[in-house]
Amino acid sequence: MEENYAEHAELFSSLANTQTPHTLFIGCSDSRVVPGLITSTKPGEMFVVRNIANIVPPYRVSDDFVATTAAIEYALYALGIKQIIVCGHSNCGGCAALFYDEAKLQKTPNVKKWINLMSGVKDQISKHCANDKAKREWLAERLNIVNSIRNLLTYPNVKEGYMAGEIKIFGWHYIIETGEIFNYDPHNDHFALLNKDYDYEKISHQLFD
Ligand SMILES: [Zn+2]
Repeated sequence: MEENYAEHAELFSSLANTQTPHTLFIGCSDSRVVPGLITSTKPGEMFVVRNIANIVPPYRVSDDFVATTAAIEYALYALGIKQIIVCGHSNCGGCAALFYDEAKLQKTPNVKKWINLMSGVKDQISKHCANDKAKREWLAERLNIVNSIRNLLTYPNVKEGYMAGEIKIFGWHYIIETGEIFNYDPHNDHFALLNKDYDYEKISHQLFD
C-alpha cells in the first residue's frame, strides 16, 4: 500500500482538492470485478458506482435512501460526466438469483427486492430458455446490461444528450476467466468482442482519449 502511494505521490497530490473523472463506471459489487484493473485507469479517472448485479434503477426523486440513483445523479449533474460504462460480468450471482426459489432469498429480503428491478429481464428469458441454466444466466447478464442502459436514459437530459452524441454510454459484458470484454452494439442489438488482443491499454485509449 505504501509503495503504491509513493509511486503515485504526484498524482495523489494533484487530486488532493478536486476530482474531474472522465467516466462513470457502473459495475457489480462482485469481488472479481475490479474497475481500475479492467480499464487500466488511475485514481481520479473514474467515478465508480457498484451494486448487486450492476443495476441502474429508473430515475425518480424518492423519500427513500436511494444510493445508486444519488451517485449517478451526482456523477451526471454535479461532476458533469459525459461517458458512462455499465459493466456486467460472467457468473454474476445477482443475475443467477433471479431464478432462485423464494426460500433461498428468505434471509436476504433486500436483495430479493433489489433484483425485482430485473423482473422484465426474467420475463424475456422465460419465453426463450427457461430450462437451460447456463444459457439463461448468460442471457440474464446481457439483457440486464441493456435494461440498465435503458433506465439510464430516464435520467433528466440523458436521452437527449445520448441521441445528440454528447453523452456516450457503453454496455460491457466482462468475462472473468479470460478478461474478454463484449461491448453492446445498440444498432445491431448484439455484443461484440472488444479486446481481441487482450490489450487493456489500447482499449482504454480507444475509449477514453
Ligand atoms: Zn455480479
